Amino acid sequence: MSYQAPLRDMQFVLYELLNGDQILPALPGCEDATREIMDAMLTEGAKLAENVMAPLNTSGDREGCQYDPETKSVKTPTGFKEAYKQFSENGWTALAAPVEYGGQGLPHTLNTLAEEMVCSANLSLGMYPGLTHGAVNALISYGSDELKETYLPKLISGEWSGTMCLTEPHCGTDLGLIRTKADPQADGSYAVSGTKIWITGGEQDLTDNIIHLVLAKLPDAPGGSKGISLFIVPKFLTDGTRNTAFCGGLEHKMGIKGSATCVMNFEGAKGWLVGEPHKGLQAMFVMMNSARLMVGLQGLGIAEAAYQTSLGFAKDRRQSRSLAGPQEPDQSADCIIVHPDVRRMLLRQKATIEGGRALAYFTSLQLDVAHKAESAEEREQADDMVQLLTPIVKAFLTDEGFFCANDGLQLMGGNGFTQDWPIEQYVRDSRITRIYEGTNGIQALDLVGRKLGHAGGRAVKRFFAMLEQYGKDNPDAPHLDDVKGAVARLQKATMWLMQNGMTDREQAGAAATPYLRLFALTAVAYFWSRMALTAQHALNEGSTEVDFYQAKLHTAHFYMAKLLPQTESLLTEIEAGKDSLMEITVAQL
Ligand SMILES: Cc1cc2nc3c(=O)[nH]c(=O)nc-3n(C[C@H](O)[C@H](O)[C@H](O)COP(=O)(O)OP(=O)(O)OC[C@H]3O[C@@H](n4cnc5c(N)ncnc54)[C@H](O)[C@@H]3O)c2cc1C
Repeated sequence: MSYQAPLRDMQFVLYELLNGDQILPALPGCEDATREIMDAMLTEGAKLAENVMAPLNTSGDREGCQYDPETKSVKTPTGFKEAYKQFSENGWTALAAPVEYGGQGLPHTLNTLAEEMVCSANLSLGMYPGLTHGAVNALISYGSDELKETYLPKLISGEWSGTMCLTEPHCGTDLGLIRTKADPQADGSYAVSGTKIWITGGEQDLTDNIIHLVLAKLPDAPGGSKGISLFIVPKFLTDGTRNTAFCGGLEHKMGIKGSATCVMNFEGAKGWLVGEPHKGLQAMFVMMNSARLMVGLQGLGIAEAAYQTSLGFAKDRRQSRSLAGPQEPDQSADCIIVHPDVRRMLLRQKATIEGGRALAYFTSLQLDVAHKAESAEEREQADDMVQLLTPIVKAFLTDEGFFCANDGLQLMGGNGFTQDWPIEQYVRDSRITRIYEGTNGIQALDLVGRKLGHAGGRAVKRFFAMLEQYGKDNPDAPHLDDVKGAVARLQKATMWLMQNGMTDREQAGAAATPYLRLFALTAVAYFWSRMALTAQHALNEGSTEVDFYQAKLHTAHFYMAKLLPQTESLLTEIEAGKDSLMEITVAQL
């Protein structure tokens, strides 16, 4: 079964749960984001994902990208160039970009929904335009007017693409170690020299030019991460000269084989400073934050594709009889969807995807409010929520994207393991999402080390206040006691972190990953209660979509009964502290 965009589910979250059709058009500059326009765009996006991008997913995986050492060029899989052209010419690269540089100025949230469909359909292909968003955001925030005018219009139109060049052979997480150098030149430019590795889209044949955003150090740079600056280094200069930034080869990877992951050699390449000297880390975080949300959507998108594949299989494959007695006695066996263990795997996917979708879209909506709301207070509140939830969206949705794909494969038995089905590719493709843009372990450290304490814990207090208010406003909401129980555990874990993690940073490090998961499961429980409440209202009002809304009620029940109890063991794990991790010596490991 090929991918079908889950438009009804997406609309349910955007409109019925989050009131996006009220909130978004009320934001200054977003007046066009009416429900009618958003629906029309989603329908078009679904067609592109289903009919143009998804059919290239398997072939792109099999063919991969090819490197030509003679010309140092890269050929992307057959069909990618034409599909990318269609994607950019239809305005998808420009969707949420500012109107003054040729963008459509639509809300970021709409981009999020499009991104989900693209990632379900063809993650490798979707990464080429995906990385450009980060470059655009960094330029908007930190570029000079001249840099903006030179680069933004073509990046936004999709004629050019952007890269993020951070990683070097000896440094991935710890960017303070980078060795790439930028030497000031008499004309105000810089000569950038060094080797970057694993650069997504560093070289490709989809766009006329590639604009690299490169972290490098100036000659007088202080040591560590405080000495990093950001440079823009185009493949071709504005006069058409080929710059000395070359691809030195491609990685051979486990997954996302249609995405070119390049070694990039900068050989005194001409570049220009973006933002202030030694302040590159700030600009990098602008790139990374938008990229982190996008990577979370990659997890969600792949999980959805895996769910659709395994659901179709479970409804078709016949093995054994139902434990409750034959369901279809005239057939040789019942479909495997009757078996409780198969349902366990299906529902884990369904409940996590739909709950995760609510979490991701909520965060995107907050991002729009943070950027565009009229009052400073509203903007600050929304920004707090975005800061807090970004590492959670990235880590939880990518962990779950992989787990869901894995469950989907398991559900399909030996068929899932073969290349006759797309699910083995989903497992391979989803694996990297837990690693890049900062590993999920680093996301957890970001949450406990930076986000919890930010502005005296303001963001986390606001999060708890939002959940408490929901309980007060809806005392009869479905599963409210389950949510309250999870919130109490999360608060206990937060208190434990404050008491133990501030004086002993290893305690915080040991608790970080289970804490992030506890946080995510609690947040998703809140959204499931709200989704069940919304569904209940719709049924009470006599909606004819009875199955659709009842499915929401049943899935909420499954989530609370079978997934949320993990929060109990996570709290126990957190409170067990660091000793069992740290007492064993390196020699004993
Ligand atoms: C397919 C692919 C595409 C990529 N695309 C890009 C790109 O476009 N641009 C780019 O710049 N980079 C890119 N990367 C690099 C990617 O962002 C890094 O792999 C990632 O940041 C992790 O760095 P690392 O692999 O060097 O791991 P390391 O930093 O070596 O980490 C190894 C392990 O140690 C853990 N660890 C490290 N430090 C700490 C700490 N302080 N506390 C706790 N645990 C720690 C990590 O979580 C990890 O588990 C890409 C990588 C791949 C594989």
